[in-house]
Amino acid sequence: MSNFYKKGLQFSCTQCGHCCRHDPGYVFLSEADVRQAFEFLSLPEEEFLKKYCRIVDVGFFKKVSLQEKSNYDCIFWQDGVGCAIYEARPLQCRSYPFWPAIMDSEESWVEEAKQCPGMNRGEVHSEKAIESWLGRMEREKPYKP
Ligand code: SF4
Ligand code: SF4
Repeated sequence: MSNFYKKGLQFSCTQCGHCCRHDPGYVFLSEADVRQAFEFLSLPEEEFLKKYCRIVDVGFFKKVSLQEKSNYDCIFWQDGVGCAIYEARPLQCRSYPFWPAIMDSEESWVEEAKQCPGMNRGEVHSEKAIESWLGRMEREKPYKP
């Protein structure tokens, strides 16, 4: 069955920061995300988890997410700078907007594009590249608290 992104999709982040700020949400972390971040910050794993992460009960199990500030900005968002761990940002941030729920249908892509000015402009991401993000998201092991 052919999908709506067969010919690729355009996306170039404008760095507007909308997806890192203002709204409550979760940035769930994989094992690789946690390792990459604490190494980038030169912190022991335990200290990174205590200082920047929170445990979220998602029903039958628990996941680890980044903390938010009281205004719902991501703990790593810095005004005038952007993401303080950009080079080591989690897969969830890195792979956006090529997430399973968004790539599920053209309707969900169009809906998401209403809040991301980077979608449908700039660089063309091939079907293969998009599927590679989807595969990585499926394969990476969530960090177990
Ligand atoms: S909302 Fe879109 S354009 Fe803005 S920072 Fe996030 S990914 Fe980039
Ligand atoms: S880790 Fe960085 S890219 Fe991800 S939500 Fe936080 S500030 Fe944004």
